[in-house]
Amino acid sequence: MTSSLRRLFVGPIIHSKSLNELEVIPHAAISVFKGRIEFIRYDVIDKHEQEYEQIVTLKKGQFLIPGFIDTHTHAPQYVNCGLGLDMQLLDWLNSYTFPAESRFKDVEFAKKVYNKCVSHHLKNGTTTALYFGTIHSEACVALGEIAKQKGQRAFIGKVNMDRMAPDYYIEKTQESLKETESFINKINGIDGCVLIRPIVTPRFVVSCTSELLEGLGELVKKHQVAVQSHVSENQGEVKLVSQQHPECPSYTHVYHDYGLMTEKTVMAHGVFLSDSELDLFSKTRSSISHCPLSNFSLGSGVCDVQRALSKGVNVSIGTDVSGGYAASMINACRTTLIASQSAKFNVTHDYKDTDGMINRIKKEEQQETKYKELGLSQVFYMATMGGAKSVGLQDTVGNFCVGKEFDALLVDVEDQDGPIDAFIDDYEYLYGEGHEEKKKILDLFQRFMFCGDDRNIKNVYVRGDKVL
Ligand SMILES: [Zn+2]
Repeated sequence: MTSSLRRLFVGPIIHSKSLNELEVIPHAAISVFKGRIEFIRYDVIDKHEQEYEQIVTLKKGQFLIPGFIDTHTHAPQYVNCGLGLDMQLLDWLNSYTFPAESRFKDVEFAKKVYNKCVSHHLKNGTTTALYFGTIHSEACVALGEIAKQKGQRAFIGKVNMDRMAPDYYIEKTQESLKETESFINKINGIDGCVLIRPIVTPRFVVSCTSELLEGLGELVKKHQVAVQSHVSENQGEVKLVSQQHPECPSYTHVYHDYGLMTEKTVMAHGVFLSDSELDLFSKTRSSISHCPLSNFSLGSGVCDVQRALSKGVNVSIGTDVSGGYAASMINACRTTLIASQSAKFNVTHDYKDTDGMINRIKKEEQQETKYKELGLSQVFYMATMGGAKSVGLQDTVGNFCVGKEFDALLVDVEDQDGPIDAFIDDYEYLYGEGHEEKKKILDLFQRFMFCGDDRNIKNVYVRGDKVL
C-alpha cells in the first residue's frame, strides 16, 4: 500500500541527470505525495508545516540519493555466497549452483532463503532488484510475494532450462513453457504490476533448446514482458554456444533470432562481445548488466564498459550473487571502477621483456589519451538510471524528477557504529576556507561510495513508503 501521507524531505540531494552529469543540491526540498515527487525546490523553503503529515529534516552528514537498481542477482544462490569462487563458471555451476538451486522445489525452504535474501538486498540500498529464481514456479511466486510484503520493487524470473543440466534439475520443453505462462499471470496478479513484475528468464543459451527459446520469445511478445539472461560471460561458454548454433554469427544473435533482444532485455556480463554484437545491443536497445565482482571472482575476464558505452549501449550494474560474493551495490560500484582501470591497462599497455626485466610500456601515445576510464559519476548513473532504463522504468525511478516515484536512500556518513570517520568539522582546517557547499556534499558522497556500507543507509524508501 502506498502511503497517502504528504511528506517533505529537506536537505542535500545527489542524483544523476545523465551519464556524465551528477547533480548536487545542498539545500533541496522534495515533496512526496502518493508515492510520487510532487515538486523539488532548490533552496530552503518556508515550510507550511500544516500541509505535511511528516517533515524529514536531514542532519549534518546526511543526504538523499536514489535507490540502487541491481540488474542481476540470483535469489536462490544467496545460500551460496562466498562458496566455490576458486572455480571457473561451468565447474562452479555443477558443484555448487545446480545442487543448491534444486532444493528450491521445497517451497518452505525457498521462503526461508528468500526472506533473508530480499531483506539483505534492501538493507544494502537495493530498491529495485532483477531476480533470477529457479525452475520452480511456486517458489518463484513466493519470492514475488515476499518482495511485495517487504516493499521492494522487483522483477521475478522463473528460470528456464531444458538441456545441458543435471537430470535432478532440468525441465521438459513444453512443460517449461506452460509453467512460464502461468507464472507470468500469477506474478502479474500479485499487485497488478505496480512493484512486482515478471521477467522471462532463459538461464543461458547453453541450457536452452531452440524450441524453448522460440517459445519464450513468443511469450515475451504476447505478454510484453522484460527479458533477462546471461551472455558471453566466459570463453568456454562462448565456444560451446558457437558449437551449438553454427547457423548464428554470434552468441547475441541467437537471442535475437528468437525474439529475446528487446528494449526491456538485460543481459548479464557481455565480457567477450564482438563489435557486431554490441551493434545489435545498440540497435535493439537491449542493455548489459555489468557484474565485475563475479567476473573477477570466477576468473571470467574484464568487461570493457567504455567500449560498450561508446557504441551507444545502455550499461547497468549487477551484483550477480553468488558468482559475486556480495549483495551490496556500493561494493559493485567500487568493483566497476577497478574493472575499468584494469580494462584501461589492457587497452593502453603491453608488457615486454627488455634485458631480462618485465617492463610495462605504453602501446601507442594516442590510445593513452583517447581511452578514458569510468569515473564515479558514470558508475553511479549506471547503478541507478542505467538500471531503470534497462527495464523500461526510466520515467518511473532512477533519479529525482517531478512525477517520478520516490525510491530513495537516506545516507548518513556520520553513523557512530559505521565504517566512516568523515572529519566534517575539520573540513576547513584540512582543505582551506571558501569551498562551495556543493563540493563538501560531493566529498561526503565520495566517502560513502568508497568507504561506506549498509550501516550508513539509515532509511530506505520505495514509492514514497519507508520500507526500512
Ligand atoms: Zn548470473
